[in-house]
Amino acid sequence: MTAERLKELRGQLDDINIELLDLITKRAEIVAEIGKVKAKIGTKRFDPVRESQMLEELVSRNNGPFSDDTIRHLFKQIFKASLDLQKTDQQKELLVSRKIKTTDTVIDIKGLKIGANNKVIIAGPCAVETYEQTYAAAENLKKQGVRMLRGGAFKPRTSPYDFQGLGEEGLQILRKVADELDLIVVSEIVSPYDMEAAHKYIDVIQIGARNMQNFELLKVAGEASIPIILKRGLAATLDEFMFAAEYVVSHGNSNVILCERGIRTYERATRNTLDISAVPILKQESHLPVIVDVSHSTGRKDIVIPTAKASLAAGADGIMVEHHPNPPVALCDAAQQLNPAEFEQLCEALKPFLS
Ligand code: PEP
Ligand code: MN
Repeated sequence: MTAERLKELRGQLDDINIELLDLITKRAEIVAEIGKVKAKIGTKRFDPVRESQMLEELVSRNNGPFSDDTIRHLFKQIFKASLDLQKTDQQKELLVSRKIKTTDTVIDIKGLKIGANNKVIIAGPCAVETYEQTYAAAENLKKQGVRMLRGGAFKPRTSPYDFQGLGEEGLQILRKVADELDLIVVSEIVSPYDMEAAHKYIDVIQIGARNMQNFELLKVAGEASIPIILKRGLAATLDEFMFAAEYVVSHGNSNVILCERGIRTYERATRNTLDISAVPILKQESHLPVIVDVSHSTGRKDIVIPTAKASLAAGADGIMVEHHPNPPVALCDAAQQLNPAEFEQLCEALKPFLS
């Protein structure tokens, strides 16, 4: 008898489930229709006042056993699922995603192409210290056929007492040296206020790991007319990294290069842990060029050649490396900057991977 009653009750539940399914399906069809009407008259998809009215109407009719909050929660889920149906494909997928654009983005910087198997080396000192130091490093780049000169003028340092960079004067030095040797300037800015100076002196703006989620900086980078190298945050997941790039692209600048630069793990043999798998994953998920900073990721120059080779072999569109004419006297990151001979060795070793 009890077993039969249970079966009967379960049968009733099954019928109610099907009725509910029919009802929410019908509801979704009406919401889709409303979406079309809204699109025609140009009204916003989501109307919070209307939604709140609907919820309060339902709550006012609620006589239990569910609490008012539960009723709000249940119906909110139904409303949200129906609204999501109104999203266009573009809104469902990120602009940086390969689902939106299947072909590799190729960024052309003064005739130098990055992306779709156009691989580059970006090199130069951690920080711009003097004209002479920058020129000496740049001359070594020139000798190796490396066209992209990096150097920090605004240095994001852990300690406020460490060398903070020369600021705008550093950018002026970089520009002068780059113009004299026909090189491309890559330099970091750390604040939206530096954007004007960036347009004056820089060819590719770097947004550093510590600023990957500085959303105000990302938004102005999106309004900039120059390419951006966006570095992965110290503890950022790849999803968070892609969303950060989306900030820039959705604000109008589609010339974004993603840079894997190592993440914090418990391993202390390297400064950070170079996440080599990030390269093929980002290349799969996104159409944007991907490069690897082989200096900041490991902090070790003795393994720079294998890590650079591994990065390029994994599909990276380039590498970034620090090179100083005289590393022992460098004002920052002395231990990881390559001296002229080491830089030459690296460039030689990478030749087969670049052609
Ligand atoms: C840099 O490239 O100069 C730098 C500070 O790197 P990151 O932001 O990756 O630490
Ligand atoms: Mn550095």
